[in-house]
Amino acid sequence: MAKHIPIRQCVACRTARPKRELLRVVIDANGEISLDPTGKKAGRGAYVCRSRQCLEQAIRGHKLDRSLKNRVDEATIAALVAEMEALPPEKETDDPASANA
Ligand SMILES: [Zn+2]
Repeated sequence: MAKHIPIRQCVACRTARPKRELLRVVIDANGEISLDPTGKKAGRGAYVCRSRQCLEQAIRGHKLDRSLKNRVDEATIAALVAEMEALPPEKETDDPASANA
């Protein structure tokens, strides 16, 4: 019984990956932008790879602004990068097939 795996595209590098391998950035009803490691927060979301490079590219290339339909300011950028770096490293052991991708 293969479960359907939702695929999302990184807004920075345009790589399509299984949703759980990407990082969701979400904007809530108050305009607060934050990372959503669980994928469960309410609001408009955009996906980026779990890499500082993609996160910064998404922000500085104004791709997040466009996806979230909101301007992302410098303070938010710093907060998002810090938040991402505080996340535990991506697990690599539970899906051997992805190592060959
Ligand atoms: Zn990416």
